[in-house]
Amino acid sequence: MSCDYIALANTSIQGISPYQAGKPIEELQRELGLEHIVKLASNENPLGASKQVLAALQAASADIARYPDSNGFELKHTLAEQLGVAASQITLGNGSNDVLDLIARAYIEPGKSAVYSKHAFVVYPLAVQACGGRAIVTPAREWGHDLAAMADAIDDDTSLVFIANPNNPTGTSVSEAQLVDFLDKVPANVVVVLDEAYFEYFEGDEHPDGVSLLAHYPNLIVTRTFSKAYGLAALRVGYALASEQITDVLNRLRAPFNVNSLGLAGAVAALGDHDYLQQGRSVNRAGMQQLQAGFGNLGLAYIPSVANFIAVEFASEIDTMTLYQQLLQQGVIVRPVGVYGMPNHLRVSIGLEQENAALLTALQNVLA
Ligand SMILES: *Cc1c(COP(=O)(O)O)cnc(C)c1O
Repeated sequence: MSCDYIALANTSIQGISPYQAGKPIEELQRELGLEHIVKLASNENPLGASKQVLAALQAASADIARYPDSNGFELKHTLAEQLGVAASQITLGNGSNDVLDLIARAYIEPGKSAVYSKHAFVVYPLAVQACGGRAIVTPAREWGHDLAAMADAIDDDTSLVFIANPNNPTGTSVSEAQLVDFLDKVPANVVVVLDEAYFEYFEGDEHPDGVSLLAHYPNLIVTRTFSKAYGLAALRVGYALASEQITDVLNRLRAPFNVNSLGLAGAVAALGDHDYLQQGRSVNRAGMQQLQAGFGNLGLAYIPSVANFIAVEFASEIDTMTLYQQLLQQGVIVRPVGVYGMPNHLRVSIGLEQENAALLTALQNVLA
């Protein structure tokens, strides 16, 4: 005896298409038997792991028979000190993806809605849909978030707004003045998620900083991650910063040991390795210039980015999925972004100089 176990699943789950991750290097190696592969598909740190982090993991590995510290005391206190917030305002997650899910589960249910922008990070629709919420998707402005349109779109049943700053996959950003203007318009009973996964790549002194806004807006949640600039994507550590009440709510939902002990130890070590962060930023700056110049030479337009990736545009007669496959044949993995409503773009993470050069050569080959 059997039945349709998809039809049996909760209604909100039935329409979900699973998240499509960047293609793993090993998978392409298996498929094509290629030895040398360049992956510029998941916005990872091209420097690889920090030596200080590796040493901390080595030390922490002796204790893996024990459960991790469920409260993440040391990581929370290190973060609290660096960011100038209270430890009671921090929720740790298995990547910031985990925290985004907790937030949706806490504030979305059937009968409620969430506002986010077209071309915004795809985890927002997934999380909202899984909880049975209604999505209100606002039009983008020059590929970025139109905060005025987002404020206008807030409905009576809206409980959540998602803003990614910088946004993935467009690399666009909004200014702190625009954020303040927006937050001033949002009713106190609407929770605003400011996803700062690429915060560390902002340049200059004037860049927006959600942490500085927390004290003024008790409905604000700032999320950050160790997966990108800190180079710990595989360890899965992210966090949310919010008022004590919101933090209390998220803590009720959080799985007891959602961040493992290697992740906790690695993240603490990463926070202490300032040189690694600086080096990553300068590699990113140089790679950004290299790719922008290279795209220019190939006659390709791109969306100006403030993050560690660039969405590059192709003529409408070019099928970007075919192009993606052709690049795979050349041993270069990038990211198609059709699911983001961007069928004419591919997203390219900024890599080391030789990786960027390999991508540009591969592009030149397949476009010729
Ligand atoms: C990569 C990314 C995240 C989350 O990554 P985690 O590895 O789960 O921390 C969150 N938001 C955006 C916009 C991202 O691009």
